[in-house]
Amino acid sequence: MKILIIGGGPAGMMAAITAAKAGADVVLLEKNEKTGKKLFITGKGRCNVTNACDTENLFANVMEHSKFLYSAVYGYDNQAVMQFFEDAGCHLKTERGQRVFPESDHSSDILRALDREMQKAGVKVRLNSEVEEVLIDNEKKQILGVRLHNREKIMADRLIIATGGISYVLTGSTGDGYRFAREAGHSVTKLSPALVPFNIEEDWCKQLQGLSLRNVEATIEVEGRNIYSDFGEMLFTHYGVSGPLMLSGSSYYVHKAGNRPAKLYIDLKPALTQEQLDKRILREFDANRNKQFKNAIATLFPAKMQNIMPMLAQIDPEKKVNEITKEERERFLHTIKHLELTITGVRDYNEAIITKGGVKLSEINPSTMESKIIKGLYFAGEVLDLDALTGGYNLQIAWSTGHLAGESAAEE
Ligand code: FAD
Repeated sequence: MKILIIGGGPAGMMAAITAAKAGADVVLLEKNEKTGKKLFITGKGRCNVTNACDTENLFANVMEHSKFLYSAVYGYDNQAVMQFFEDAGCHLKTERGQRVFPESDHSSDILRALDREMQKAGVKVRLNSEVEEVLIDNEKKQILGVRLHNREKIMADRLIIATGGISYVLTGSTGDGYRFAREAGHSVTKLSPALVPFNIEEDWCKQLQGLSLRNVEATIEVEGRNIYSDFGEMLFTHYGVSGPLMLSGSSYYVHKAGNRPAKLYIDLKPALTQEQLDKRILREFDANRNKQFKNAIATLFPAKMQNIMPMLAQIDPEKKVNEITKEERERFLHTIKHLELTITGVRDYNEAIITKGGVKLSEINPSTMESKIIKGLYFAGEVLDLDALTGGYNLQIAWSTGHLAGESAAEE
């Protein structure tokens, strides 16, 4: 059985290793000068390789269509992935939130383990080999092979497309797989950047550029409907907001609001109820009766916010604390618990960790990853209409679907 794989990312490499171990003659085609360029930069260079949570939780972190993944994940779950890397000589460790990393903190060790396993299994890796076209027998609806950019044709019995999404194009993910899929008769669902920062309308955001806030609560509302609420860390930037809390929020936003304008509310003191916060503010006011308002609130916020908060609460920052009215205090309280921002959209693919959308899942057999349209054609990884939250789940999708595609393609 001769199998071609397009794409030397995590999904393609896992598919290649699995198929070659099952006895197939496997050629992996990668257009870059090396494999795993995106994998190398994952987890800020540390590679959050999977998540050690139970399977239910794993599915819960997939944004949509998690049922499609049942066969792939039950056949090759996070435990299997961890065992694979341990056996391949790359020791792992589990950190906060069950995130799994190489013990060395170097994604290069994950890459080296994959390279060793490909070599051991006899995978032929062809670098600098960009696939230009997928060759199909249109009468028999059967895969024939591929044509490379240099016009060379390579024939095969089976083909796995593992070309990734279109985020961070410089890593090689240029969306070729979507074109191949369409040319083979597949539908590609609407694409969008996900796990991506937000553009924010309010100009004052810029003044807070570089400020990171921990332990805040964010709520996103679209047309008055709450679509996301969570606690965590956020970061102000020159265009809007980023940070883990916002990246997760963006995935809910693109899935549930599809880039429509939305409101983002930040609770700066989520650990305190309205009453507790009021008492705290009164204490500050009592202790600083003759100070200016902006100085009296210095202990409540980071220095960068000291001028912004009075402005947002429409209180003269120079006003003496003992002159602040009850209404002003209530407005101030409301601003702290409901800091309002307007989301105008998300940043582009070059800042997105993942691509939402992809090859339509109803056209793919979830027990094999084979196309229901073209015999011998398989898909794996981010090219599929699947995306998950951060925490190692996106790579788990790549490992599980890659493993299943490789295993099924190698079957006689
Ligand atoms: P890719 O990794 O994109 O690989 C596709 C490969 O196909 C590329 O090497 C490309 O060059 C090749 N290719 C494309 N077209 C062709 C063609 N025509 N011919 C030949 N080759 C082609 N996920 C996690 O779970 N944990 C993390 O810590 C994490 N961190 C991330 C950090 C960043 C900055 C980014 C951008 C993503 C991160 N992700 C993380 C997401 C994760 O990297 C992806 O989900 C994963 O790489 C998808 O794997 P893939 O094999 O499907 O595609």
